Amino acid sequence: DTDTGAGSHDPTSLRTPIVAVLGHVDHGKTSLLDKIRGSAVIEGEAGAITQHIGATAVPLDVVSSIAGDLVDPDDFDLPGLLFIDTPGHHSFTTLRSRGGALADIAILVVDVNDGFQPQTLEALDILKRSQTPFIVAANKIDTVPGWNANEDSPINATYEAQSDRVSSRLDESLYEIIGNLSDEDFSADLYWRVQNFQRNVGVVPVSAMTGEGVPDLLAVMMGLSQRYMKEEMEIDVQGPGVGTVLEVKEEKGFGTTIDIVLYDGTIKADDKVVVGGMNQPIVTDVRALLQPRPLAEIRTESRFEKVDEISAASGIKVAAPDLADAMAGAPVRVVRNRELDEVVDEVEAELADIAVDTEEQG
Ligand code: GDP
Repeated sequence: DTDTGAGSHDPTSLRTPIVAVLGHVDHGKTSLLDKIRGSAVIEGEAGAITQHIGATAVPLDVVSSIAGDLVDPDDFDLPGLLFIDTPGHHSFTTLRSRGGALADIAILVVDVNDGFQPQTLEALDILKRSQTPFIVAANKIDTVPGWNANEDSPINATYEAQSDRVSSRLDESLYEIIGNLSDEDFSADLYWRVQNFQRNVGVVPVSAMTGEGVPDLLAVMMGLSQRYMKEEMEIDVQGPGVGTVLEVKEEKGFGTTIDIVLYDGTIKADDKVVVGGMNQPIVTDVRALLQPRPLAEIRTESRFEKVDEISAASGIKVAAPDLADAMAGAPVRVVRNRELDEVVDEVEAELADIAVDTEEQG
């Protein structure tokens, strides 16, 4: 082992893992994202979570204050987690990077009472094909009859506060989910029994309503990322930005804009970019980079504020001419000091990949 120890990597070159939330309709994807955002706002100093375009950044210190004893910030050097705001597998399959999934890691939400449903199976299939590491959030534990709710509590503490009848009832539902996962060839267990998250899927009991288990969920996501994905998070922050189009949108005063998730490098307000288009790559100059303005500052003016530059991982709105043909799911690449032809070729190759995948799926 030739680990050179501390100082071998510049910590600023580690980006935030990108997290997607999947699962059957009504199993609680949106509620879980809302709960995480809400807890982060309460726990953190004002502005500690940053609302990005299409995503929410939860920095390590906020993860740690929500997770309490479960996360010691000194054990981590990844800067936090970036949650994509649009849950569901449609957005997951559209959003890709370099032929893989845009999300580095996923949360599969399963309602403990409702168990596996058609879209749960679809989501599993997608996660399997894209080889995306994931954990299962066994949601709505507060609906187990007789449940004694303990707001925002870690799982072991709230388990102890339940009667034997109630906790064995929950266990039954959890083991059913573990059995369903095993039927789909995923070896799974309750997360605190999992030694190797690369081999086994961890199941985390949670309630998006009461916040129970949310500390555990964040701790497991953070731990898994740190342990198994650190190398993939090493980026050249100062390099030309690379991202994926989330959405193409008309914005008053800006014309057609693209919302993108940047997963590598930096994009600057005066960069030339190449964007995947319906017919061919679009070469254009950034006119403005826009972030949501904090709620308190919104008057009659724009909902957005301009930024000079932003680094991965982040969500940002790009205003530029000629974006009408841009496509959701298409690549975006900053040219900066590279050869334009080379960048156009890369975007073209990535577009060709997307076309092949779409045919295979259709
Ligand atoms: P999505 O379709 O997966 O995004 O599901 P939603 O987040 O919209 O949730 C569907 C319904 O389940 C809503 O009425 C939520 O209030 C409810 N719900 C979600 N999570 C929980 C939970 O942990 N406990 C309870 N009791 N209800 C929940």
